[in-house]
Amino acid sequence: MNLSTDHLAIRTTCAYCGVGCGVQATPLADGAIAIAGDKLHPANKGRLCVKGSALGETVGLEGRMLYPQIRETDGLRRASWDEALGKVADAWKTIIAEHGPDAVALYVSGQLLTEDYYVANKLMKGYVGSANIDTNSRLCMSSAVAGYKRAFGEDLVPVCYDDLELADMIVLVGSNTAWCHPILFQRILKAKEARPELKLVVIDPRRTATCELADLHLPVKAGTDVWLFNGLLSYLSRIGAVDPRFIENHTNGFDAALDVANADCADPAVVAKICRIELPVLLEFYELFASTRKTITAYSMGVNQSSAGTDKANAIINCHLIGGRLGKPGMGPFSITGQPNAMGGREVGGLANMLAAHMDLERAEHREVVQTFWESPVMADKGGLKAVDLFQAIEEGKVKSVWVIATNPVVSLPDADQVRRALDKCELVISSDIMQNTDTTAYADVLLPALGWGEKDGTVTNSERRISRQRAFLPAPGEALPDWKILSLFGQRMGYSGFDFRGQHDVFDEHARLSGFRNAVGDVPRAFDMSGLGGLNQREYDDLEPTQWPVRRTASGELQVETRLFKDNVYAHPDGKARFIATAPRAPKHAVSEDYPLSLNTGRVRDQWHTMTRTGKSATLADHIAESFVDMHPQDALLSGVREGELARITSEWGAMVARVQHGGGIPRGSVFIPIHWNGQTASDARVGAVVNPVVDPVSGEPEFKHTPVRVEQFRVNWHGFILSRAEVNLDSVAHWTRIQGREFARYELAGRNTIKDYPAWARALLGVEDLDADWLEYEDRTAGVYRAVHVVNDRIDQCIFVSPRQDMPSRAWLASLFAREQLSEIDRVGLLVGMPVEKGADTGPTVCSCFGVGRNTICNAIIEKDLKTVPEVTACLKAGGNCGSCVPEIKKILVQTRVEAAEAQ
Ligand code: SF4
Repeated sequence: MNLSTDHLAIRTTCAYCGVGCGVQATPLADGAIAIAGDKLHPANKGRLCVKGSALGETVGLEGRMLYPQIRETDGLRRASWDEALGKVADAWKTIIAEHGPDAVALYVSGQLLTEDYYVANKLMKGYVGSANIDTNSRLCMSSAVAGYKRAFGEDLVPVCYDDLELADMIVLVGSNTAWCHPILFQRILKAKEARPELKLVVIDPRRTATCELADLHLPVKAGTDVWLFNGLLSYLSRIGAVDPRFIENHTNGFDAALDVANADCADPAVVAKICRIELPVLLEFYELFASTRKTITAYSMGVNQSSAGTDKANAIINCHLIGGRLGKPGMGPFSITGQPNAMGGREVGGLANMLAAHMDLERAEHREVVQTFWESPVMADKGGLKAVDLFQAIEEGKVKSVWVIATNPVVSLPDADQVRRALDKCELVISSDIMQNTDTTAYADVLLPALGWGEKDGTVTNSERRISRQRAFLPAPGEALPDWKILSLFGQRMGYSGFDFRGQHDVFDEHARLSGFRNAVGDVPRAFDMSGLGGLNQREYDDLEPTQWPVRRTASGELQVETRLFKDNVYAHPDGKARFIATAPRAPKHAVSEDYPLSLNTGRVRDQWHTMTRTGKSATLADHIAESFVDMHPQDALLSGVREGELARITSEWGAMVARVQHGGGIPRGSVFIPIHWNGQTASDARVGAVVNPVVDPVSGEPEFKHTPVRVEQFRVNWHGFILSRAEVNLDSVAHWTRIQGREFARYELAGRNTIKDYPAWARALLGVEDLDADWLEYEDRTAGVYRAVHVVNDRIDQCIFVSPRQDMPSRAWLASLFAREQLSEIDRVGLLVGMPVEKGADTGPTVCSCFGVGRNTICNAIIEKDLKTVPEVTACLKAGGNCGSCVPEIKKILVQTRVEAAEAQ
């Protein structure tokens, strides 16, 4: 009998990063969703990272927003779609009539599908008549957009993923690719395995997991990238690694850019000093770059999220232009986008300073093209408010109503407490979301339920300009609707024509046709052209295979796709030439000071995504890193009076948060790293956005997430503890807590400032156990302040709580494993009170390989007992590292540490 469920699999696309992997999702009879990589998708060829593999754990309906709601003075009440959208439409009509169209705004998301984004942009710019639509993509890639536009005249990523395999050198700048774009990193590693001569250079202040497999790591001081690349431009010019014919025929601005580079960066010794790296390391990089023609420079948030982000992007592009190193296989500047559809948002003009289809808001002829195509009554004619400015304008009362769609600005924006204040003051906040309780929906006056991944249908575009279908395989829950539909219904309530789309296919068709409509108006044709996909019928749209743009149809009706751009050396500036941009280096706006002596860098961890509203639901993903942390150099920790494992308060001029101190993240002296993910639902006070300065790049408006002056100090508590509980626990009375999703339970890490006088009564009250005769295993040492209690129901562990004045807590991994048991054994009960398993090897330790659930202790034991020496040997023995490969750098590190410790112990 054939039990294969392949015929039920729906081919769709991952909901997370900009790699845009193809996914096969198969609904199973028990309601679970089997997830596998799509072997036919060119981005991942069947592989998925751990986040993609765990997508099935995030689609449950727990916590979902299921129907529209309106906030009254006594709380939220259910409303019909008609009433909710009517309320918003009435309010917007009044506000627009009284204060003009710029008094309302949309704040949207790179999580939206292109169809959603298209309707949102059309609504605001062509009908409301304001460009006040910005997106959380402003926070991650707007500097890359601005850099490309300045250099090429249009927002164009010149390369494709295959170029990574064709390159002879890959330079990763400000990108922890191993954790943030894991499948792309796996492709790089595979290419390196096949061709060991392929050089991998990592430029990053931190020694990240990506560096573990690099040939060369340049640990530059944060914010010095322009010095580094200006120095490279100067060096290339000096040694003659230039293509004079290319510069002469296909570029402008070379002399000015070189003059600026030479002014400060002609001497590598000076550059090395400013970048705080060894001169020989700098020169090795410069020599490698000069001698390796087929070089890809891939960059990400470490470049973009800076007050000089656009200049950093252009300083990199300049180094490719000087040698004509683009437009050919295996070379070019490559911005890797963070979000699944940041690129789709760019196509439809979903940023406040862009128009649809890569046209320019400032150019009257472009506005005329779009308005003519839309037949719209108005057209925004100036840039709208960018993300940070938008929330400042809301607080100042200039913007009276904001509609937040699929994003969580109270967590993700810099100066996030200011966002709270702004939303608190705003006359009307509307939130379309999939989750009922987020830090942002708490401020919404009208809540609108949207479809989530697995339920919605449309397209996304990945970092290599490849359009892929996201397909629904789950029914719409409750009254939730797709975002394009919500916005279209709203447009109709506003009395606008042009929003009578019958489905996402209609929206896509209009988007594709607009891209080809009078495409060459004014000067050279825009490269963004997907007119070849216009006119698809429903079946063709449903069956659309991943396709890169530009995509046009030949006279004979064939689709013609360009995988890489600029083969003909024609750029989108009016003269057809690319631009060198003079990039004078400048330091971050706020320098560290006596009060705030450390530079805060923020970023992602391997197994979480953005503000955790989805990945936070997955026990698999929670296993890797449970709590927010502040990674810092041991000497800085010493000077700050904090120790590894303790909680610390991190304070800037803008706000404060609490996180656990750790070392070992390869942090240089003078800086700290904190992840961006934890929100108000997953931790009491771990929103790093509250600490980040609201400084932005003057060109792109992208915030400086990679540098905020902070100080770190001890967060004093009287006790530490944790709870594992099948039921949710209210922790309002606890000074600091983090909630971590487990399998069939939730884990809470706690720290308290109160003095506990009666442990049993306190524990029962905290855990919500009213039955005084309940089955408890308890241990109390009142003098030492140590308390352990396990609540047993029907011989199964139901809850446990452990408290100590020190950090010497038992292994959570072993205790967590007991929640899967139908019955506790005698030996388990003994172990419970001791706080550790009696059986040898039962404590697997913190998870390293999330795909196969392999813990650190298991790996260390196997290394010693089986004398394992290489990662492939560990994989062969334990499977760890054998699926997505995201943990390979960690396994490599553990191998080295374990073998060194074993050698020292002998
Ligand atoms: S690399 Fe991982 S998170 Fe990114 S698209 Fe692929 S599976 Fe999803």
